[in-house]
Amino acid sequence: MIIDCHCHAGTGDGLTGPWDTRAPLEQYMRRAARAGIDRTVLLAAFHSDYRQANREVARMVVSRPDRFYAFAFVHPERDRGRISSMVHEAVSRFGFVGIKVHRHDVRITREICEVARAFQLPVLYDVMGEISVCELLGQEYPDVNFIIPHLGSFADDWRAQLALIDHLVRHPNIYADTAGVRRFDVLDQAVKRAGARKILFGSDGPWLHPAVELVKIHALELSKAEERLILGENFLKLISSVRRQAVKPTGQSSGMTSRSAAIPALSTEIRDPWAGNQFACC
Ligand SMILES: [Zn+2]
Repeated sequence: MIIDCHCHAGTGDGLTGPWDTRAPLEQYMRRAARAGIDRTVLLAAFHSDYRQANREVARMVVSRPDRFYAFAFVHPERDRGRISSMVHEAVSRFGFVGIKVHRHDVRITREICEVARAFQLPVLYDVMGEISVCELLGQEYPDVNFIIPHLGSFADDWRAQLALIDHLVRHPNIYADTAGVRRFDVLDQAVKRAGARKILFGSDGPWLHPAVELVKIHALELSKAEERLILGENFLKLISSVRRQAVKPTGQSSGMTSRSAAIPALSTEIRDPWAGNQFACC
């Protein structure tokens, strides 16, 4: 079974580019079917209200639960204090199996990590080349699994992607996806050094062609067993213990927000996530 762990879906409410405007799935579904992709993890487009965006994705998942998984997109600042309720709705009502956070919005917070821990959800966090956070995520949340898309940089920042390999090797809870990675030798090195257990196939559809992305995995010339890990088994393992209800951490009376201000957020100015130094995907 082939699972694409990274595909966008639904409508954004911006008008900057495809990433915050529209992620139509019709063509993606035809391409994925021809490529032999069996299941796809859907992520909302950039949006000013992720609860609304997640509900749109939820309608797709509920209509095709055999075909789609989904991660709940949350904004570390705008959704501060309500991350738990948003994730609870997404997981218990709609069957979502992970959390999506993007550095283009702001940096990830402890609140998000603690909610992920409470529901035992993996977090797909696009760090946009800010690899150093993996050290903190590895140390502070060893029991929460993080998927770092694009090997850490959609911009193909060689330094960032190379640095991520070290974190993949050293931290059992840090994983990476292959979406949009163009520096094939870095991907090859990541698999060789960190092992196929730490890499997940993702396409960044519908904006990237899933068959083109899939060819990269075959080009790694791995054993069938290693290929199966990357193409689906790693993902299934990461979602194997998702809880439908949060388990409160022991010693804390109420919630997930007590330390949520520990990592300060930076500017929320609107930037083009596909341009210049902020080149990222979504
Ligand atoms: Zn993306």
